[in-house]
Amino acid sequence: MTSKINPAFQDKLKKYGAVNFNACYNCGTCTAVCSLSTPEESFPREMVRLSSLGLENDIKSSLKPWECYYCGECTENCPQTANPGELMMSLRRWLTAVYDWTGLSGLLYRSLAFTISALSLVLIGVLVFGNALSFQLTEMMHYGHLFEMYVVFAVLVIIFIPNIARMWNFTILKPKVKANLRIYIKSLPDLFIHMFTQKRAKDCDKEDNFRWLEHFILVLAYLSLLFTTVFLNWFGTNSFFVVVLGYVESFFVFVITTDFVSSRIKKAKALNKFSQPSDWLFVIWLMLMGLTAFLVRVFIDTQIIDNNVWMYIVHLTVLAQWAVIIVPFGKWSHFLYRSFGMYFSRIKAESEKRRN
Ligand code: SF4
Ligand code: SF4
Repeated sequence: MTSKINPAFQDKLKKYGAVNFNACYNCGTCTAVCSLSTPEESFPREMVRLSSLGLENDIKSSLKPWECYYCGECTENCPQTANPGELMMSLRRWLTAVYDWTGLSGLLYRSLAFTISALSLVLIGVLVFGNALSFQLTEMMHYGHLFEMYVVFAVLVIIFIPNIARMWNFTILKPKVKANLRIYIKSLPDLFIHMFTQKRAKDCDKEDNFRWLEHFILVLAYLSLLFTTVFLNWFGTNSFFVVVLGYVESFFVFVITTDFVSSRIKKAKALNKFSQPSDWLFVIWLMLMGLTAFLVRVFIDTQIIDNNVWMYIVHLTVLAQWAVIIVPFGKWSHFLYRSFGMYFSRIKAESEKRRN
């Protein structure tokens, strides 16, 4: 990949939330304090430098933005208040837009008006759907459940597989990383380890493992709630075990995301100081998902759901907005790209080792 300078790149990055990174005078403090940076994989100073110089293609082919778990340590210690941690976050947003073949990710990140229009469109879609079924609860729940099943599959096949192939192309194929099949297979456990444990987040913020623990429980609770609602049909089951399981999962999703929302409001830590609309959307919608799913099941168990169809409509709206906007094009996708980022990094490191 050529190192062509794009003078407009700085302005482009600002639309993804980067603030004041031009103030950097290249002292290297951020890299020195970052507990995840190594001599082989050194960041964030290098990323700040490439961004200031407008070396867009070098960043496009880099996996380093995915190696940062945003503890905020670099930002706290930067003598120039150049906010290197927020720059790394902005690069992840920008890369998400670069990987996305539809172009919708970029639009959502750059335009609040577009985000609000997309959310409103989904709300209208849910109301039209409800109206077509005369707001009959049983019918709506049946098709709502089918929607959940098919949307998971559709988002994976139509959006994520092509986007991850593009990421692979930009970061492995185009930079001509020489990796054979053995390296791909040997590195595969890294993909799942990072996906399910986020273990680098633990190393990132050594003094505050509570944040890592919250993330870990949230990932487990969210994924198992998805499984319970989609495959165990939580809203339609009479199984005591499944009902209780769904309550526990949705409770954890709600409680942990409420804490995340509160941290963003308080702005006590560097990582919460510059929340973008995409950050708010992610935590608030996940919180609403947990809350409305919990309440729908309470309404079913207390048999008041028949006279309160609106509760299911609210849940379905939140779910549909989450599934067709936030998961494929918003911050949820970072979870997947980061896991693949760690996998591809391992492949790069292994192929480098083989060459030396
Ligand atoms: S600590 Fe701040 S000024 Fe120093 S290299 Fe990092 S971003 Fe630049
Ligand atoms: S936010 Fe934390 S992990 Fe990310 S670059 Fe800064 S110090 Fe490193």
